[in-house]
Amino acid sequence: MIRPAELIERKRDGAELAPDELSELVLGYARGDVPDYQMAAFLMAVYFRGLSGEETFALADAMVESGDTIDLGAALGRKVVDKHSTGGVGDKTSLAVGPIVAACGVPFGKMSGRGLGHTGGTLDKLESIPGFRVELSVDELVAQVREVGMAIIGQTGDLVPADKMLYALRDVTATVDNVSLIAASIMSKKIASGAEAIVLDVKVGDGAFMKTIDDARELAGTMIELGRRARRDTVCVLTDMDQPLGRAVGNALEVREALDMVRGEGPADFTELVLDACAHLLALSDLGVGEEEGRVLAEQAVANSSAADVWVRWIEAQGGDPDESSLPVASVVREVISPRTGHVARLGANAVGIAALHLGAGRASKEDEIDHSVGVVCHRKRGDPVEQGDVLAEVHARDEASADAGAAEVLAAYELSDAPPAAQPLVLDVLT
Ligand code: URA
Repeated sequence: MIRPAELIERKRDGAELAPDELSELVLGYARGDVPDYQMAAFLMAVYFRGLSGEETFALADAMVESGDTIDLGAALGRKVVDKHSTGGVGDKTSLAVGPIVAACGVPFGKMSGRGLGHTGGTLDKLESIPGFRVELSVDELVAQVREVGMAIIGQTGDLVPADKMLYALRDVTATVDNVSLIAASIMSKKIASGAEAIVLDVKVGDGAFMKTIDDARELAGTMIELGRRARRDTVCVLTDMDQPLGRAVGNALEVREALDMVRGEGPADFTELVLDACAHLLALSDLGVGEEEGRVLAEQAVANSSAADVWVRWIEAQGGDPDESSLPVASVVREVISPRTGHVARLGANAVGIAALHLGAGRASKEDEIDHSVGVVCHRKRGDPVEQGDVLAEVHARDEASADAGAAEVLAAYELSDAPPAAQPLVLDVLT
């Protein structure tokens, strides 16, 4: 039997742990035998010392082993595809990708997480829809993907309980942004939930856990290797997260924007990223199309409303009210006004994410309740011209005091300049 304190000490001192030691620690934590305080200390030691490749594989294997696994492909007799993001600000991509891919005839089954640090989580966004159930059993998941073409669920049905617990602990102990922990967290969920083809959106920049392209490449390489070992086709798209994606940041606000995109009315950058992810997913699917054809199919599903139809059937299938007007609305909406004429040189994703967190869109401690109605809508983004007095953004808040504080934070996230900034691509690289 391992002694957690000994493993913490060895990792603190930079030693490499044996795969079975890591496995026992993680499985012990998932069973409740290792307490949060020891796991938190271990995570901090990992944060500073890192994990070797072998340790990372052992961690991911133990996380998968901590619960059930599903073979969605075998259950459906189809190749199931999945997409996941490493976490960003305003990143509601999966909400729009699912219905579009499903409308193209490719089953989409996804297990998502909650918000982490200043980044929003897909489950929290979905729970802003009244009645929406993220906790489906495995049988319900399979039945829904068969009938509706898609499902997005939480880590229930005993799928990767170790990640569910570690994710919540990392969120509140400043131990999120470590390549091995992120790679094992994401890939354990993907492997356990049975998708055979996975598109990973690795966010890079100020609002992402990976601040540099080199770190993002390292994370992508680790996840591709974890995918290869589990025999999954894995593609990593490295994308810009120096500014929020789209306009909306905050749970219900992002659900609205995702629905706008599915209807063909989304902001340009968000639309571009969704269509790009769909093209990769459809090319990896069993449809037998290439990326270009995949993109055309995705565009058609938006244009002919079949994706919007899937959206309604999907939300209803998970018990939610598909009527947009049922989404919660904040009681105070405060405009953030441009103090000068010029261009938006920078809109800090991290600062906007933290402003949304302070407004109540995320959690500061594990037990915190989220306010689904609050957040920020960024009307002006990098490169946009602005006049003095223009509305740069809107802050959606629960009361006047938090609206004031939020508006000041969002204004500080904008950097205005005379000349427009150099153009920055959204998709930085694609790795396979
Ligand atoms: N998304 C996850 O699922 N896990 C992480 O650790 C980070 C982003």
